[in-house]
Amino acid sequence: MKVELVGTGAIYTKYNSACTLINEELIVDMPNGTLKQLLKNNHKPEKIKIILITHMHGDHISDIPFFLKHVYNYVKIDNEITIIGPKGIEDKIVELFEAYRFEDREEIQEFMNLKFIELNNDEYEIKLEEYKIEAIQVSHGEEKPAYGYNINNSVSCTGDSGICDGVEKLIANSKVTIADTSLREGDHCHMGIDNIKYLTQKYNKQIIATHLRDTTREELKKEENRNILIAEDGYQFEI
Ligand SMILES: [Zn+2]
Ligand SMILES: [Zn+2]
Repeated sequence: MKVELVGTGAIYTKYNSACTLINEELIVDMPNGTLKQLLKNNHKPEKIKIILITHMHGDHISDIPFFLKHVYNYVKIDNEITIIGPKGIEDKIVELFEAYRFEDREEIQEFMNLKFIELNNDEYEIKLEEYKIEAIQVSHGEEKPAYGYNINNSVSCTGDSGICDGVEKLIANSKVTIADTSLREGDHCHMGIDNIKYLTQKYNKQIIATHLRDTTREELKKEENRNILIAEDGYQFEI
């Protein structure tokens, strides 16, 4: 699989918000600016067939209407796009369209070929195209449910989460984990450098730090831990 970290930053940074593109056709989260960033990086957004949403905070979903308008109204694709996310994700996307004063629910249903899979339990295994997607509930404070995703037992994305059983399972089941490392010291909403160091040691696997605050990014650079990678926006790897 070809993996690109479209964004690696927390909200208040110059970096794009955390977002991961796999094989040009599966994307984890669609934060503010995703569509423009994909176009700047010479991707074809219309190739995306599967959107995995970790949770409904704005820095993870706010570009979904811009993306859907681009592919269905501008490029005029007619193929189905599957959106997998926490319970209520369909209504939330309709609300975003309404807030932006774009299409209403009926127009979305008429002109956009969307399939929603809404999640509410602890764990799911979903087979779509050539992907085995494991959705595992993680712990993001009051934002419930929030999910991390494991794709083909190769790469996991934790989404926003404090350290929890779900995060550990995602790491255990994959070769590389793209993990929320917002903070210097983790709390119940986000992991920190302390959590990431503990997890790489425990599982002896590579973690790519994302959703980084600028101060955390600088602090993490001093660690020189070969199992922790600090990616820049646009970083790509094959797995
Ligand atoms: Zn969040
Ligand atoms: Zn976030």
